[in-house]
Amino acid sequence: MMEFSGPAERHRTVAVQVGNVAIGGGAPVVVQSMTNTDTADAEATAQQVAALARTGSELVRVTVDRDEAAAAVPRIKERLLRMNVEVPIVGDFHYIGHKLLADHPACAEALDKYRINPGNVGFKEKKDRQFSAIVETAIRYGKPVRIGANWGSLDQELLTHLMDENARSNHPADARDVTREAMVQSALLSAARAEEIGLPRSKIIISAKVSAVQDLIAVYGELARRSNYALHLGLTEAGMGSKGIVASSAAIGVLLQQGIGDTIRISLTPEPNGDRTLEVKVAQELLQTLGLRTFVPLVAACPGCGRTTSTTFQELAAKIQNFIRDSMPEWKTRYPGVEGLNVAVMGCIVNGPGESKHADIGISLPGTGEAPAAPVFIDGKKAMTLRGPTVAQDFQKIVIDYIERRFGTGTRQTAAE
Ligand code: SF4
Repeated sequence: MMEFSGPAERHRTVAVQVGNVAIGGGAPVVVQSMTNTDTADAEATAQQVAALARTGSELVRVTVDRDEAAAAVPRIKERLLRMNVEVPIVGDFHYIGHKLLADHPACAEALDKYRINPGNVGFKEKKDRQFSAIVETAIRYGKPVRIGANWGSLDQELLTHLMDENARSNHPADARDVTREAMVQSALLSAARAEEIGLPRSKIIISAKVSAVQDLIAVYGELARRSNYALHLGLTEAGMGSKGIVASSAAIGVLLQQGIGDTIRISLTPEPNGDRTLEVKVAQELLQTLGLRTFVPLVAACPGCGRTTSTTFQELAAKIQNFIRDSMPEWKTRYPGVEGLNVAVMGCIVNGPGESKHADIGISLPGTGEAPAAPVFIDGKKAMTLRGPTVAQDFQKIVIDYIERRFGTGTRQTAAE
């Protein structure tokens, strides 16, 4: 019999503790996100951090771009504690991070991690001094640092040096490969410099964000090959809607399958007034569909086709999915293990019964021309048949009762009570 393989063994990295979250060293891949509020607005930022954390973000990054933002960070932490939200907060610094951290010691203390970009920490003779100042602050406060190189703000001195060297070579490489090499070197040289200053490897996470899928896979493949630093994966400028989701999932999915990556962020451009928490849901679903972690019960639904002309099964699938997501904050403590539940909502008799039997609970709705009856399968066996206008409510109640029976601790009788 042929053997089928799953994800590659995880690339061994050094574990980094960020607040109450472990990253790398074999720990489960961590989901993180970033706010898009003005950090100086402590109330709005705390609310968005809380929403991201409640959706499942295990680390949340905020921009710290000026004095008002740095001054607001301790107030954001206080508000979050009052809301019982204990998610670690990461400060994102560019250009003047050294100054903001020096001028706002309460911010330096309150943050759980600093993120700096070696390409814009300072220029020429200031670069080393300002980079050192940030690293020394991190050492003083015992904070980890993410050294995050970025294609859009790549260290120009390093890139020029590598381009010149390449031009003199007898066999010059493609310019794109030289840029990829510059990304890798920028991250690794900066991490090595941070270690020279005294920041231990167990306080360093590196990232090298690019906006093209193949570049990301190539760059992180090299980072993993050349080092054992904990790695943060993310495709930058991934874009809006399905384009952003597909590009991020393709790039990060390939790397995770290769065993590369300790923490991920899906950078989506939200629609105007769109839901910021979408990036957390996508990250969770990516990890769950790859079989790396479980967060929420999965609802499998068929795509629909000409055999089903009503929208009943789509509405039911959406309703069940939303109901499960909305209930998860409460269910997580009340029903340990419920995140591994599988529910199937199918549109007709062709694949409906078969797929429903493979789920913990499944329903096969009637397709066009079929008898108006919906068999329900529980643990692989047909348990009952639903009929009439209350099929959706009846099925939801069956799901709740099943969860209570299988995952409940006996503190609650039935969902109907
Ligand atoms: S289960 Fe039925 S309705 Fe759904 S895609 Fe398959 S054939 Fe079409």
